[in-house]
Amino acid sequence: MINTPQNICRCLSQNLLLATLVLTISTIALVHTFNIPNPAIICLLVVVFFTFVGGFYYGSISGLLTLLYCGYFFSQTGKLFYYTDVDLYKIIVIFVAVIAMVVMVGRLKKQVDSRTQELEQLNEKFRLLSTVDGLTGILNRRCFEETIIQEWRRSFRGKVPIAIVMIDVDYFKKYNDTYGHQAGDECLRQIAEIMAKHVHRSGDYTARYGGEEFIVLLSNTTISGAAKVGEDIRLLIENLRLPHKSSDVSPYVTVSVGVMSLIPEADRCVEDLVKKADQALYYAKRHGRNCVISYSDNIEETI
Ligand code: GH3
Ligand code: MG
Ligand code: MG
Repeated sequence: MINTPQNICRCLSQNLLLATLVLTISTIALVHTFNIPNPAIICLLVVVFFTFVGGFYYGSISGLLTLLYCGYFFSQTGKLFYYTDVDLYKIIVIFVAVIAMVVMVGRLKKQVDSRTQELEQLNEKFRLLSTVDGLTGILNRRCFEETIIQEWRRSFRGKVPIAIVMIDVDYFKKYNDTYGHQAGDECLRQIAEIMAKHVHRSGDYTARYGGEEFIVLLSNTTISGAAKVGEDIRLLIENLRLPHKSSDVSPYVTVSVGVMSLIPEADRCVEDLVKKADQALYYAKRHGRNCVISYSDNIEETI
């Protein structure tokens, strides 16, 4: 690893106790060996440093070692500042200075820490906002598109199938026209919630793909497995029994589902997978709605 200031800081913060001990003791040894003037002042700087990096705890460890050294130095030389004779007054000043440094710098560190924490929370909030759909709380399309590329690569390496289930609400324009846009929003929320509850295996993702269109990514799943998940979702939504009096297929809100699964190969791309699930969905719309259609080659010929 390159010794950049960031890397050194990272190493220090990972082994802060060790770093505090080693660096404080080495500073004391250096100060002592080379008879550096004003050893107490130099050691105080070390205390400040560790209080700032690690807070009160590490500052106190460093401070304790420094005070021990000052005591030793005093017992050997009768001096605290290297060139000056010591009196009680100076000892008290040094002692108070150590405590004051630890407290002051520790407080400053606390403030910096709390600001950093606030910033981290804000960052996390922005990250969530950029990955989650505002209306339904499931993944948004942007995040889904990033996720599917990763999952595609994983499936390619593992030579396992990856499946897509595309779901579109039937006659949703009419639903909005009949019940209003707010009721439409609530309907989408309920559909997303039930889907997200149903799809929960690791490597499976549910996202809002467009207005009233949802998409489910199923890792390591064959087309028959994905069709089963699609049918489960279709049934769950039908069983919500959300009234839809202007639908031409059912008195309740229903969805049409298109399914595709394939094992990624070098000459295939992820868009191909989504496109084929979309074609199956289109077929489902053309052939009665409220049903699940799995992609097959003859679908492409008929649409
Ligand atoms: P089909 O059965 O063929 O899918 O018909 P459809 O009416 O569902 O499809 P169409 O594409 O004609 O209309 C989709 C409607 O979805 C139109 C639009 O107003 C509505 N919609 C899209 N996004 C939202 C949303 O966020 N909230 C609400 N309430 N409605 C939305
Ligand atoms: Mg629709
Ligand atoms: Mg649509």
